[in-house]
Amino acid sequence: MNIVFIGTSSGRTSLSRFHSSILFEHNKFGLLIDAGDGAAKALLAADKNYNDINFILFTHYHADHFGGIGALITQMKIYGRKKTLKIITNKGLKSPLIKFLNSCYMFLNDLGFELIIIETEIDDEIKLAKDFSFRLRKNRHIQKKSGIDFIDEPKFISSSILFNYKGKHIFYTADVGSDKDLEIFNDFSIDLLIAESTHLSLKSISDFAVKSKIKYVYLTHIDEPDEKEIISSAKKMNKGKSFAVEAAFDGMTINVTDEF
Ligand SMILES: [Zn+2]
Ligand SMILES: [Zn+2]
Repeated sequence: MNIVFIGTSSGRTSLSRFHSSILFEHNKFGLLIDAGDGAAKALLAADKNYNDINFILFTHYHADHFGGIGALITQMKIYGRKKTLKIITNKGLKSPLIKFLNSCYMFLNDLGFELIIIETEIDDEIKLAKDFSFRLRKNRHIQKKSGIDFIDEPKFISSSILFNYKGKHIFYTADVGSDKDLEIFNDFSIDLLIAESTHLSLKSISDFAVKSKIKYVYLTHIDEPDEKEIISSAKKMNKGKSFAVEAAFDGMTINVTDEF
């Protein structure tokens, strides 16, 4: 299985990085995690075929993770897609998603392909293949951002994801609220960590990787003004540590089968 970083920038628009999207290329399916603003173009830049995407999973609806969905579905329609597309989103977000698509003049019965939107409950295990599943848990990203406690409001959920591939765990923090959110999946052993680097300090990521005995760490959601420092700190972090760390870039591909 390949994990391909399609967009690695933060919420800040940059000329060198697209907004957040990660593609999981499994031999049975293609799963796109988030479709940040410009995702359709980012996929073209990475030489990916829209038709190879079977599932899109959203962590939250900030524009840098969600804003590209309208244009991406339009491209699928233009390219004459026939295959079913399934979008997986947090509970309570199906209806806002349909309203958003409708307001872009996209109607589910007029796409030329079947679009199924599935809401997932926190901690439900979603199995996409015999050897691949994932679960979402709510983090504090939205609460932190808004300054308002939306804890009981499902529409304002932001999630982190734990993937299980061949019994190994990949933790993608997605956008978090604070360092505390690194501990969201502490009841699992984690083999590979994909950490956003805008709302987390590199020290906390490093300490967490050591404490949790994680072997591989990839940094994404890179804010342009911090880019140089993140890349050079990642290089320094590699020295004398028990894990390997790398700052991701658009198009970067991890062959997870080799890593494990
Ligand atoms: Zn973001
Ligand atoms: Zn966000």
